[in-house]
Amino acid sequence: FYSSKVHKCTLIPGDGIGPEISAAVQKIFDAAKVPIEWESVDVTPVKGPDGKFGIPQAAIDSVNRNKIGLKGPLMTPIGKGHRSLNLALRKEFNLYANVRPCRSLEGYKTLYDNVDVVTIRENTEGEYSGIEHEIVEGVVQSIKLITEEASSRVAEFAFQYAQDNNRKKVTAVHKANIMRMSDGLFLRCCREAAQKYPSIKFEERYLDTVCLNMVQDPGQYDVLVMPNLYGDILSDMCAGLVGGLGLTPSGNIGLNGALFESVHGTAPDIAGQDKANPTALLLSAVMMLKYMGLNQHAKIIETAAYEAIKEGKCLTGDLGGTSKCSEYTDEICKKVVSLA
Ligand code: NAD
Repeated sequence: FYSSKVHKCTLIPGDGIGPEISAAVQKIFDAAKVPIEWESVDVTPVKGPDGKFGIPQAAIDSVNRNKIGLKGPLMTPIGKGHRSLNLALRKEFNLYANVRPCRSLEGYKTLYDNVDVVTIRENTEGEYSGIEHEIVEGVVQSIKLITEEASSRVAEFAFQYAQDNNRKKVTAVHKANIMRMSDGLFLRCCREAAQKYPSIKFEERYLDTVCLNMVQDPGQYDVLVMPNLYGDILSDMCAGLVGGLGLTPSGNIGLNGALFESVHGTAPDIAGQDKANPTALLLSAVMMLKYMGLNQHAKIIETAAYEAIKEGKCLTGDLGGTSKCSEYTDEICKKVVSLA
C-alpha cells in the first residue's frame, strides 16, 4: 500500500536538542520506509546586503521548492538587531494557521484523561500585528488588526481540517461582546465558513467561558478556531492539560506550503546528552505525513509512539523514565517494523 513516489522535504534540525531529536525522527521514518527524502538546511542567520541578519537564501529556496518542511527548535538570540527566526519563517512563508492537536496519552497520567482537542490559531495579525506607538508620553496605543481575508482563510481551514480529520464540531472562540467590530468580523467569517460545511457542528463561545469549561471538562471541545492572541494562550493551556510542551506537536499551514514543528524550545540544559524526548517532533512529523496524504505511514508511526509510551518500559527523563533518546527511538523503530 505504500506510495512509490518519493517526496522531498526540507528539514531544519535546529539548535540545542534539535539535531538529536531530528536524527531520531529520521531513523524512525527510515524504519517505516516513509517515501521521503530529507533536504537538510541550515537557518543560521546570515548578513544580507542591507546589513541586516536574515534566513539564508538556500533555506528559503528549499522550503519554496519542496513546500513542506519539518523544523526543530531554534534558539532565539538575545540582543538588538536579531529578529526571532521563528517569526521570520512565519512571515517568509505566509504561515497563516497554527494547528495544535492536544490529546491525552495513555500511560502518561495527568489530571485529565479525556483531552482530544485541536486549537487552530490565526497566525498573521490580531494583537501581534506589531503596530504600536506612543501618543504622548505615558500613553501608548497598540492596534489589533483583523481582516476579513485572514479571518475567512483561517475559518475555512478549520472547517476543512475538521472534515478531513473526522472531527464533529468547530468552536469559534472570541470576545465579540467587548470587541464588537474586530472579533465581530472574525465571528462573521466563521459563521460564513460554517454554512459551507453543514455536516460539521458549529458553536460560538467567549474565550473566558472556554477557559473555564476547558479545565472543568475538556471532553466537550473538539476543534477550536480563534484570533492570534487567544490562540497563543489557549493552545499552551491545552498542551498543559495533556502533559506539557514536550509532547505537543504543531503545524503551521501557509498559503504555499506548510512547516511542522515541536512546540518546545532547544532545552539547553540537556542538549548533547542523549536525554531529549523526540515525541513532540515525531508527532509533528506524523502531522506532516497526514497533511501530505501519507496516512498509512502516519498511522503506523503514531501507533508505535503511543504504544511505547503506554507500555512505559522505555521512557525519557521528562516522562519519568531513565531511557536515553536513542533507546526510546530504537524501541519505536522496533514497533514500527512489527506494525508495518
Ligand atoms: P525549553 O522548551 O527549551 O525548555 C524548558 C524545559 O523543558 C527544560 O527543562 C528542558 O530540558 C525541557 N524540555 C524541552 N523540550 C524537551 C524535550 N523534547 N525532551 C525533554 N525535555 C525537554 O524552553 P526554554 O529553556 O525557555 O528555551 C530555550 C531556548 O529555546 C530559547 O532560546 C528559546 O527562545 C528557544 N525556544 C524556541 C522555540 C521554537 O523554536 N519553536 C520555542 C520555545 C523556545
